[in-house]
Amino acid sequence: MTETESTIMANAQGELPLRYIGTPSAEGEFFWTSGKDGFLRLLHCDDCDRFHHPPQPVCPYCHGRDLSPKPVAGTGTLAAFTINHQPFIPGFDPPYVFGFVEIDEDPTIRIATNIVGCDHSDVEIGMRLRVLFEHSGEWYVPLFEPVEAN
Ligand SMILES: [Zn+2]
Repeated sequence: MTETESTIMANAQGELPLRYIGTPSAEGEFFWTSGKDGFLRLLHCDDCDRFHHPPQPVCPYCHGRDLSPKPVAGTGTLAAFTINHQPFIPGFDPPYVFGFVEIDEDPTIRIATNIVGCDHSDVEIGMRLRVLFEHSGEWYVPLFEPVEAN
């Protein structure tokens, strides 16, 4: 079984629709479990006081190693998106919106995610979004929905 297949199997054990998250790196696993308590976390460098994403073992700004996951507000702005109509992943049926969300703490950080909770025709660059988590197996997959959704 490949790593991709084992990840899909793990996700398929959840009751919610499958979302392929790849195989998290050791330093990135926290990102996929952080939502257990409702908070989105990003890796923060205590040497230069910056967040970075995706998680790396060394700070990309100062090469510091004093890194730890810290909560962020979970709000941001949609920087780019595409609506996928192709059934690339078995069990994960199109159409769905794939996008990059700039987080409020540092707009240079863009989180790759799915935009949910609204009609696809209402998705537009610059819209305000907030995180929600889809519990799937051992993972809490961060998704984003319009701030106006609830
Ligand atoms: Zn740093």
